[in-house]
Amino acid sequence: MYLKKMEIVGFKSFADRTKVEFDQGVTAIVGPNGSGKSNIVEALRWVLGEQSAKSLRGGKMPDVIFSGTEKRHAMNYAQVTAYFDNADHYLASSKDNEDVIISRQLYRNGDAEFRLNGKKCRLRDIHDLFLDTGLGRDSLSIISQGRIEAVFNSKAEDRRAIFEEAAGVLKFKSRRNETESK
Ligand code: ATP
Ligand code: MG
Repeated sequence: MYLKKMEIVGFKSFADRTKVEFDQGVTAIVGPNGSGKSNIVEALRWVLGEQSAKSLRGGKMPDVIFSGTEKRHAMNYAQVTAYFDNADHYLASSKDNEDVIISRQLYRNGDAEFRLNGKKCRLRDIHDLFLDTGLGRDSLSIISQGRIEAVFNSKAEDRRAIFEEAAGVLKFKSRRNETESK
């Protein structure tokens, strides 16, 4: 399974419909400061179900919608669509089709929807789909700029917890603690 394409419209600095295609292997996105590199990564976290506006560098969720520039009006909605190649059926969705397409849309008035392969779905369905795949909303596979510094500057015990979480040990540790406290 791999992310092969994203389509972004009205999300942060992307007023025009923008397609970003990824090949298998490593992709590097380069560009001047403020050109929207982090916004692309945030668009991915958002479509995967991120619920914290703060972690997307906003105060409230509609802050992700293109807010206009001197030359261009603000937009009324943001929409991000992510296309995953699922030919290996790593994601337990779509028995027949080889792609998994998820999308999220948010209007300024608060109307919002998620879609899975074109059909309206719940946020829960998106969570379930990516649970334990290493790619979900809270996973460590997406590490933002500030987070790297936080890892370097954290205390040794906290840093250890981050590695344990990444290695999948934390959930067993917390279960053991639960059992021992019974
Ligand atoms: P750096 O190299 O400094 O990390 P970057 O390429 O990661 O830069 P981003 O942080 O992705 O840049 O983009 C920041 C730009 O996005 C800023 O110019 C900011 O004004 C713009 N931006 C953020 N939110 C919105 C929004 N809702 N509407 C319009 N523009 C926005
Ligand atoms: Mg950045």
